Amino acid sequence: MRGQAKSSESSLHGGSTPSRAEITKSLDDGLFELLLEHRHEQVSVWSDADAGYRGVIAIHNTTLGPALGGTRMWHYENDLEALIDVLRLSRGMTYKAALAGLNLGGGKSVIVGDPKAKNRAPIFRAHGRHVEALCGRYITAEDVGTSTADMEFIREETEHVVGLAGRSGDPSPVTALGVYRGMKACAKMAYGSDSLAGKKVTVQGTGHVGYHLCKHLHEEGAKLVVSDIDNERVERVVTEFGAVAVAPRDIYAADADIFAPCALGAVINDDTIPLLKVDIVAGAANNQLEEERHGDELHEMDIIYAPDYAINAGGLINVNAEVEGWDLERSHKKASAIYDTILHVLQLSKEQGIATYRAADRLAEQEILEAARKKA
Ligand code: NAD
Repeated sequence: MRGQAKSSESSLHGGSTPSRAEITKSLDDGLFELLLEHRHEQVSVWSDADAGYRGVIAIHNTTLGPALGGTRMWHYENDLEALIDVLRLSRGMTYKAALAGLNLGGGKSVIVGDPKAKNRAPIFRAHGRHVEALCGRYITAEDVGTSTADMEFIREETEHVVGLAGRSGDPSPVTALGVYRGMKACAKMAYGSDSLAGKKVTVQGTGHVGYHLCKHLHEEGAKLVVSDIDNERVERVVTEFGAVAVAPRDIYAADADIFAPCALGAVINDDTIPLLKVDIVAGAANNQLEEERHGDELHEMDIIYAPDYAINAGGLINVNAEVEGWDLERSHKKASAIYDTILHVLQLSKEQGIATYRAADRLAEQEILEAARKKA
């Protein structure tokens, strides 16, 4: 099944050799500084002109296990932007896996190109060869701009890919379960009881995760206020779970106990923080804080923030089932344990007087250091 990496004389010898000055200029842009900044282990850059492939794989840390993280395909303005993105995302995966207690390290890959490209087979087969060349140190999966069909092309070249059709399936229900359990842990900290019955919860985004989250909340007797830019998706939760719909711009200022961002990143920012009336922010969206200082602001305002990568780890737990051979029941058990993780994070934040996102980082770093010590 595995194809041989192609070599093409014409592409190997195309173009002129860059001058020393040109190379020095690239390094001056800070390549090694970027790697050193957050202690990345490895970055692999691969180009296959015939396939129309330009990919970067970043492996942040493999102390806990092989680095797992999705492949993102995006129109990057320039190569440095792609590199920065892959470094940032791979580091995030290390922390997410460590805090979720998985035997996985952190990695990610980006393909520079049009996410809507039509002729995908050569691009993703080239990416598969790139993944294969790392001999299992990196395992890939779907991400923004890629699909399960793309993963099948990768699978033609390597076994180090998860999230294939007919395997672990849609991660959203497991992610929603984890978010629901993490939200209950936040309620325990804020109200002394983890019951969400009668609590008013605003859910921004009623897509894959938001829908399943609304289901859990409705079953427990929470009152739902929802928004989505897709009216059909809103209608579904209004009809099925008795949710009240508000316009997308009104979700932040809604009178509620808990806010669950389940749509976009960077929604906790200078514009939205002054509008919030809630006690808790706990949702599935990635990168909810526009900047870290916004997490500090929530802390100062006594709003409990469940760090996104800690509460939304259900998706990673779901694909990890393919690596470990877990059944769905085991994945559900692991996602339910997000309750304990969030409680631990909140307790540390309280004891040390630090924002919750900082507490989560400390716990993840502790986990990795302990594993490294045991290995030494
Ligand atoms: P999705 O695309 O199915 O749902 C997102 C919803 O948000 C869509 O219905 C969309 O119309 C809506 N939306 C977009 N802009 C909006 C706005 N301004 N106001 C209100 N609604 C808006 O995605 P999903 O799989 O449900 O994921 C939701 C979030 O959770 C994303 O940030 C994703 O990265 C994150 N996440 C998802 C998983 C997972 O398992 N699916 C795992 C971890 C993290």
